[in-house]
Amino acid sequence: MNAIGINQGSSGNVSVRKASGYLITPSGMPYDECSAKDMVSMTLKGKSDGLLKPSSEWRFHQDIYRCREDVKAIVHVHSTFATTIACLGRELPSFHYMVAAAGGKTIRCADYHTFGTQELSDAVINAMQDRKACLMANHGMLATGSTLKKALAMAIEVENLCEVYWRLLPLGGGNMVDDAEMDLILEKFKSYGQFTE
Ligand SMILES: [Zn+2]
Repeated sequence: MNAIGINQGSSGNVSVRKASGYLITPSGMPYDECSAKDMVSMTLKGKSDGLLKPSSEWRFHQDIYRCREDVKAIVHVHSTFATTIACLGRELPSFHYMVAAAGGKTIRCADYHTFGTQELSDAVINAMQDRKACLMANHGMLATGSTLKKALAMAIEVENLCEVYWRLLPLGGGNMVDDAEMDLILEKFKSYGQFTE
């Protein structure tokens, strides 16, 4: 994630569902020093095993796995452009048809709450209703998928959309794709492309 420029340092975190519970990146460890053995195994009830602590943001990973059967992997990053839009507290409107790749006509922005809290997790679950990605106010973004690769691809797509939207904002925000067309695109995405399940 750092090499492709969607994350910095040891911020952000990644998880993947397993037979029971999930694996998540450890707390505060630089990614280039991590290996498979450093991943922390978690139950869906907040318990971890091993010596390393899970990412301090494990709670929203857990809660997404608990209420979203379709999600098998989660990528959370503080990428520059998504974080920029998130710091404005804005959602991404349907200014580009690829907004629909995240499952709806907008990509919502979850309300701000302190990292690692249940309140933040609740806000994320809200923003993720019928979506595969959301922004997080004054924080960053998260993207999900049926595999780690798809979750990463979604994160890259959201970052790209946020960069374009950031460029459009001082120019008036751009033209919107109309509602009926977005309905059509949403239908198409159900059966086509890298973002389908
Ligand atoms: Zn974060």
